Amino acid sequence: MTAGIGALRLSTGAEMPAVGLGVFRASPEETGTAVKAARSVGYCHVDTAQVYGNEAVVGLAIRESGIDRAEVFVTTKVAPANMAPGRIGPSVKGSILALGFVPDLVLLHWPQPDHRRGAWQVLEEMHLVGDLPAIGVSNFMEGHLCELLDSARVVPAANQIQLSPFLQQRGVRDICRKSGIAVAAYSPLTKGRRLDHPVLARIAARQGATAAQVLLAWGLQAGAAVLPKSVRPDRIVENIALSSVRLDAEDVAALDALEENLVTGWNPPEIV
Ligand code: NDP
Repeated sequence: MTAGIGALRLSTGAEMPAVGLGVFRASPEETGTAVKAARSVGYCHVDTAQVYGNEAVVGLAIRESGIDRAEVFVTTKVAPANMAPGRIGPSVKGSILALGFVPDLVLLHWPQPDHRRGAWQVLEEMHLVGDLPAIGVSNFMEGHLCELLDSARVVPAANQIQLSPFLQQRGVRDICRKSGIAVAAYSPLTKGRRLDHPVLARIAARQGATAAQVLLAWGLQAGAAVLPKSVRPDRIVENIALSSVRLDAEDVAALDALEENLVTGWNPPEIV
């Protein structure tokens, strides 16, 4: 598992390493290099998606890194366009072919209106017959989760949401905690938009850490897995060197006070 950082236990019994490498918007070349750099410094978790167009490169880089497949946790996500009836099964099979192995976790990327319930039923069936070890969702807010849980045969193993001190998602996290759904934080570094915030600088200076490490430590302390993206080897190292960053109650209170509903990407609460 991820060196010194730990893992979240999924409802399936599997462990999801608490720090994963994000590869959104990384070119194929950057992705391959980043995955290998991450592997060499102890990352055991990679987060990709059909829409990123880099599943094949992720799979190849993992195989080329010579690591035992069981030592790496790989998540992929079904593209919104592939959630329509008749498309999801073939698209997941396409992901398996591209990666060259069955991913550890397959998520519905988005609470697609009209298609999310049917799409979940297809993933449930694939999980129940043993084709997929774990299934989950992403960008599901309170209403989407309640709707799903009302009729689900399989409770999602994870919900991947945008999460940082600047967007704390307390209502969603509360439902996830009560329902046994692990939370994974995407854009945990706010895509870089708040890394120069003075509160982060103050805590980072006290901790001998960086602002990015403080954000990631906050996510871990909140009980989530964190998925920082970087294609730079120095930052890839920095983003997993978290074991000595210990936020105390005062730090956490200062970070909790930063909530500003900062949405840096798409905005799932708008989806009905
Ligand atoms: P992040 O919050 O991880 O920020 C990434 C940005 O921060 C990049 O510009 C990166 O630049 C920079 N950066 C990384 N590390 C550092 C550091 N230590 N110091 C300073 N800057 C740094 O944003 P993402 O939106 O990429 O989210 C992370 C991952 O989450 C994605 O890659 C993807 O896997 C997942 N995701 C999932 C979504 C979903 O809908 N489920 C949506 C969005 C993301 P550089 O690469 O040059 O280092």
